[in-house]
Amino acid sequence: MSGVVRLHRAVADALPRLAAAAAPREACGLLLGRRVGEALVLDGIAPSRNLAAAEDEFELDTALHLRLQRQTRAAAGVWHSHVSGRALPSARDARGAWDPALVWLITAAGETTAWMPEGEGQGFSPLRLEIG
Ligand SMILES: [Zn+2]
Repeated sequence: MSGVVRLHRAVADALPRLAAAAAPREACGLLLGRRVGEALVLDGIAPSRNLAAAEDEFELDTALHLRLQRQTRAAAGVWHSHVSGRALPSARDARGAWDPALVWLITAAGETTAWMPEGEGQGFSPLRLEIG
């Protein structure tokens, strides 16, 4: 996928709040949205429990995926926060990027960035993120 990721303002504002609420652990969730032409429009966040054991990891609750499917809302992206450091994919993130159909958003220090997985374990390329 190429193109731009458009993040609704309300979601963009919610992400740093969710990140702060989860600290010192990472926050995570699934992003809801749809394609509109060349853009991927993200208009919702379904926060997930973080099932990872370590503070600097995240693991989505797979039950959340199923719950969204029952509500016929498809996940369009994966979101998580970095408690320390920057809004860049970590080496662990690169290893865990399994699904090229899901964009990744990362929030750190109040900043959110967007990334496209290159395929299993292949890292990410940056996406343009527009808020509004
Ligand atoms: Zn990460």
